[in-house]
Amino acid sequence: MSKFLSEKFSSLSPYVPGEQPKDMQYVKLNTNESPFPPSQAVINAVKEEAGKLQLYSDPDLTELLKSLAEVYGVDTKNVIATNGSDEVLNFAFMAYTDKAHPAVFPNITYGFYSVFAKLHNSPFIEIPLKEDFSIDYKDYLGLNKTIFIANPNAPTGLTLSLDEIREILRSNPDNVVVIDEAYVDFGGESAVPLIKEYDNLLVTGTFSKSRSLAGARLGFGFASEKIIEDLNTIRFSTNPYNVNRMTLAAGVASLKEDSYNKKNAEKIIATRARVKSELEALGFTVLDSKANFLFAKSPGVSGKSLYLGLKEKGVLVRHFDKEIIGDFLRITIGTDAQMDTFLSVLKELL
Ligand SMILES: *Cc1c(COP(=O)(O)O)cnc(C)c1O
Repeated sequence: MSKFLSEKFSSLSPYVPGEQPKDMQYVKLNTNESPFPPSQAVINAVKEEAGKLQLYSDPDLTELLKSLAEVYGVDTKNVIATNGSDEVLNFAFMAYTDKAHPAVFPNITYGFYSVFAKLHNSPFIEIPLKEDFSIDYKDYLGLNKTIFIANPNAPTGLTLSLDEIREILRSNPDNVVVIDEAYVDFGGESAVPLIKEYDNLLVTGTFSKSRSLAGARLGFGFASEKIIEDLNTIRFSTNPYNVNRMTLAAGVASLKEDSYNKKNAEKIIATRARVKSELEALGFTVLDSKANFLFAKSPGVSGKSLYLGLKEKGVLVRHFDKEIIGDFLRITIGTDAQMDTFLSVLKELL
């Protein structure tokens, strides 16, 4: 830390992304990327747009918002697009959390929430999951605080039903409830239609997982017109060109051919079911994930030593050195061939 850093950031500990080691070729099952490349139409659109990079991108995001609104059945006034969904989440923490509106989220969830709360100097409360690792929606009723829930949750993959989310929305009418749907396309049920009924709902999504565009950095949010206005005030106060030209083109092309992404999500879902039953046959406890990963615990070997053993043999998974979940591994679902490698290395280790 330099002597120049503002005191307000002196105790900040940043989010630690999954490792991206360069020392060898790994079977990479640790950051929930898609194992499939973007469609050829997306690649072509990006190539074409590259020739116009001397010009700024469209600060109104017009074409992309139109495509998102069409695909999700909402009005363009109800959509914002951002540099990854991390950015819309950051905007939401900036806009809706402070001493008067503390943030609330589960004690086991996406690690970025607590980092954003600290970044914006907002108090936060972490509500424990139930013993079966699910979220008890009743813990979130009438809180009068700003609520963040990943649905499906990370790293468990477990979901809340739309009825449960409705209850949370209804009982917190004076606070924003953010539903982070990064993984919804792998079997969850989207809350986007509820934005028409609840003016306190913000649903966030990403092109990073089911749409094979993690490296393009494209996220989005759906909410009432007023909430979108707030978020745009922050967007235009930080970086009006937050989504670059090539990424805008990639997003529009990707939505035009969403069947390509849907087919890939179906493949992931089928592979997930197969790997889950193979792990269960090996005695693992495997949560009922509706995401593009499995969260699983070996009956005998510690999470850390399994993680290290797999890594040594060229298979990367995610391990969280944290109480309660320290013996679990989060295993991204890759191609069938990648998962076969994972399973055979795992059997060797066991
Ligand atoms: C991956 C992820 C995100 C962020 O994705 P971006 O790549 O920034 O769009 C947000 N929330 C959860 C729960 C995630 O797992």
